Amino acid sequence: MNLYHRTRLKLYFWIAKKLAAGNPADLPVSFKNKRNLFLYFDYEREFGGHDVGITDKDIYRLLDELDKLQIKTSWFTVGKIFEHYPESIREIVKRGHELASHSYAHKSPYDLSCKDLERDFMNFHLYADPLVRVKGYHSPNSKWSLSLGRELTRHGYLYDVTGRYNKTLVTRIHCGKHKSFLRLTTLGDDWDLFKEKADEYTTLKHYKKLFEKLQPGQLAGLGAHPWVLLSNPGILKGYILFLNYLKEQQDLTLDTALNFVKKIKERDETL
Ligand SMILES: [Zn+2]
Repeated sequence: MNLYHRTRLKLYFWIAKKLAAGNPADLPVSFKNKRNLFLYFDYEREFGGHDVGITDKDIYRLLDELDKLQIKTSWFTVGKIFEHYPESIREIVKRGHELASHSYAHKSPYDLSCKDLERDFMNFHLYADPLVRVKGYHSPNSKWSLSLGRELTRHGYLYDVTGRYNKTLVTRIHCGKHKSFLRLTTLGDDWDLFKEKADEYTTLKHYKKLFEKLQPGQLAGLGAHPWVLLSNPGILKGYILFLNYLKEQQDLTLDTALNFVKKIKERDETL
């Protein structure tokens, strides 16, 4: 990215943050004293712009590992996968994980015009709705745009996930009078591991370091890409070691993003 694009990006988000100012969401009492984490996958296969050779069987292998540890996760899935690999979607749902959106064509909202973003959402729902009704959105590159809020509320989404939005990690963004959604934060993912061709110990260390950013009382996500995990046996092994490490943490609540969001919503409704 050159200096012009970097400056433009900075300026856009500086203005956009002022216009889409949210307020910290109050979290339920059950979140206090606990670290609240959702593990998610950006499920894009070859539609993310990388030359990956994973199959449905690879996805099932990953699901088997999650089953062994009884961990439920959130799968932010590109719409083209609903279109081309629906069997894998059915299997993810059958195993009790959350299905959510990672856009239709893996284009970041920031790079799309309002019309193109609207079309991307329409295409996503055309293929996804017959299989599952999603409530969450994670944009490619964790980027957002001002027009994203309108599309999310229009299609009944409850939350999206971005890079760090503000200090609180969970922000309520208001779109018009009675419409709002929650903006959750990701602590990071496995992208650096792919570039480094990391071994299992580097992978474990990388994820532990990201996880340590999460403080008691907070909620955030940690991401991975199935194709990155499966790109090298060391990364997959290290990721599984990390999952085992998470299972040992006494002060950790591990759940899908949607289940956390539902608890926040329930708390709001009882007030
Ligand atoms: Zn992606």
